Amino acid sequence: MPEQIPQPNKKIEVIPPYEFRKGTKLSDEEKKALSDYLSGLTVEWKGNAKPREESGRRMFEISRLINNNLLWAKENLGLSLALKKRNISLPKIKFYDPEEFNKMAEAGEFSHDVQGCVITEAGDAVILEQKNERVVLERTNHELIHMLGRIVVDAKKRDGNQINFFIHKIGYTDERKKQFDVFSEAITEMINLESLAYYQKTTGTDYITGCKVGYFVAVIFFDMLIAKLAEKSGLSGQEIRKDLYTGYFTGQFKYLSLFNKHLGEGTLKKIAGLPKYVLGGMGTTESTEFLFKDKFKEAGLDYYEFLDKIERYYAGKEVKLYCGVEVSKNVKPSKI
Ligand SMILES: [Zn+2]
Repeated sequence: MPEQIPQPNKKIEVIPPYEFRKGTKLSDEEKKALSDYLSGLTVEWKGNAKPREESGRRMFEISRLINNNLLWAKENLGLSLALKKRNISLPKIKFYDPEEFNKMAEAGEFSHDVQGCVITEAGDAVILEQKNERVVLERTNHELIHMLGRIVVDAKKRDGNQINFFIHKIGYTDERKKQFDVFSEAITEMINLESLAYYQKTTGTDYITGCKVGYFVAVIFFDMLIAKLAEKSGLSGQEIRKDLYTGYFTGQFKYLSLFNKHLGEGTLKKIAGLPKYVLGGMGTTESTEFLFKDKFKEAGLDYYEFLDKIERYYAGKEVKLYCGVEVSKNVKPSKI
């Protein structure tokens, strides 16, 4: 018997492809025209890098992963993400051999430790080719989550009919204020892991065990912070995660204010301001200790439990997150 029986009467919220910042003075027609323009936009990446010719097999698997993310969002969050309107399609996902990928980093498109990236305006994803197919697909799904996240557009009409636009928010990242980058990446990877766990449950294909975790330090930090918030608020961790994931796709959340209420006034401001270098793949470096020690104390978290998890992970052992997903760094041979 299936574990979850579909509920035909469950209300599913349909998410528009692009959201406009409050107060944007455009007519509905102009908003639609701009949305269409953004969906069709392709932006040249700097560095003249040449993508690989991709195998049909890989691309077929990616289309299954796209579908899985939509199913997961529908089943777990009650959201219907407007896939077609945002034009999230296979040609927008490109893979590069290391020397080609490096050309984009050299040209300043992203930093050298990045293994995949989505360009904001066009929503194109570029991904570093790696030996292990499972690792590549785990990374790819992280980028797919970015592509499905909320995009808020700020637009102004100039003289004549010209419209100037600016991508104001993507996921939780505030591009204008340069805030919430770390939180947004951690939430992206948590959604990625939960969606991949759902994929494993429904198809038996495992992209988690030994596939590495993106931004592991930040994921552990927020995983523990959410667990602490659950303990202090009396809500379940699952309920809080569900709310934060919903906010990532819709901008509507009920519980974000709980951070200040239960973990101290100003906590959200600190989360918003976490500097990007936290994402730089460091483990227990001095900067991490400096950065996290204070935050941990203030939030009532166990700093040594955090360090223990980081060390276990880097030693290749399994680490269980509060969301229930078990992760490990040692890459297992590709079997797909
Ligand atoms: Zn990312």
